[in-house]
Amino acid sequence: MLNIQDIRKDFPILSREVNGKPLVYFDNAATSQTPQQVIDAITSYYSGYNANIHRGVHTLSQEATDLYEQSRQKIQAHFNAKFSHEIILTSGATDSINLVANGFSSLLKKGDEIIVSALEHHSNIVPWQMLCERTGSVLKVIPMNADGELVMDEFDNLLSKNTKLVFVNHISNALGTINPIEYIIEKAHAVGAAVLIDGAQACPHVKPDVQALDVDFYVASAHKMCGPTGVGMLYGKEAWLNKLPPYQGGGEMIAEVTFEKTTYADLPHKFEAGTPNIAGGIVFGTAIDYMNAIGFDNIAVYEHELLEYATEKLTAIEGLKIYGTSKHKTSVISFNLDHIHPYDVGTILDKLGIAVRTGHHCAQPIMDFYRIPGTVRASFAFYNTKQEIDALVEGVKKAKMMLS
Ligand SMILES: *Cc1c(COP(=O)(O)O)cnc(C)c1O
Repeated sequence: MLNIQDIRKDFPILSREVNGKPLVYFDNAATSQTPQQVIDAITSYYSGYNANIHRGVHTLSQEATDLYEQSRQKIQAHFNAKFSHEIILTSGATDSINLVANGFSSLLKKGDEIIVSALEHHSNIVPWQMLCERTGSVLKVIPMNADGELVMDEFDNLLSKNTKLVFVNHISNALGTINPIEYIIEKAHAVGAAVLIDGAQACPHVKPDVQALDVDFYVASAHKMCGPTGVGMLYGKEAWLNKLPPYQGGGEMIAEVTFEKTTYADLPHKFEAGTPNIAGGIVFGTAIDYMNAIGFDNIAVYEHELLEYATEKLTAIEGLKIYGTSKHKTSVISFNLDHIHPYDVGTILDKLGIAVRTGHHCAQPIMDFYRIPGTVRASFAFYNTKQEIDALVEGVKKAKMMLS
């Protein structure tokens, strides 16, 4: 059992007010809040050992380099990667996806096929479309059903010997659906295709084991798992990372440079050109430590409780429709009130100090499927409470009264 009131004390922002009301933060799927432990780790980097890494002989540089590399090892352990050099530190999930999409430009040819899903975030659609334009490959889409689940029979039909890559998110940010990635990985491998799983929305809720999944690439962002913005990771199997060409040229990613020829550094540095987000990389490890101390099993149990509680209370409001009703979902509720624009609901909730997301949540194809402009999305984290959900329910009732 988690002591939520104690946990909340770790998050200074949770005690602020918005528009004269206590903040109720239900936009966790866009970014999570930051515990004091992570804030302190950022401060101690800048006040104690700020220096560029991997290059200086001096003490500060060595201290910073050691902590940066220790953080990489924490990330490796968390995701159970075989080697720490299979963890590439990037600026976020989007950057990680673009790195892979760019790398595949030289490996694909006309007529090759790439499969994505109808539930993707734009950052897992657009890079592949750009890749198809560059290579003449074809994009195929796994369709979804009304519950917001992927239709696996259709996926089976899309697979062929032309399938080279499959890209699916682990958990949908717009609806909360948990996708059957084990099945997808197994089927894709059976036709010889590589699989990238976008775990940006999953990592705040579950602890993926990349070796057990046998996944080729897995990506995440620190800022959705209690870390800072501007840092994320790409896990790639060693053999794939060796096969992909470098993404960006610059310092740190080279072995030797002459004007005739440049040779590239070994993994992971081959993909880490230039000065990275050093503080971010170091405290990504602090954030992972923080979440593991709370425990992903505890988080799953408690968030499921919040999800069930909120689903029941919100469903009782007449004219409220929830989008995304899979049995396998995390603590995300996307909804609309009859004939009321989501933006108007979000604006009234903000006046009451309640932060929700409104709009298409970077997943326009899902909104098109339901023929709606967008939804109101409330997404819960382990530091949220049932009292806060009560405040949301009251707020939605108020919005309904004012707007209908
Ligand atoms: C947030 C999110 C992304 C993008 O992450 P960035 O941190 O903005 O790069 C990609 N996919 C999913 C499913 C997300 O939730």
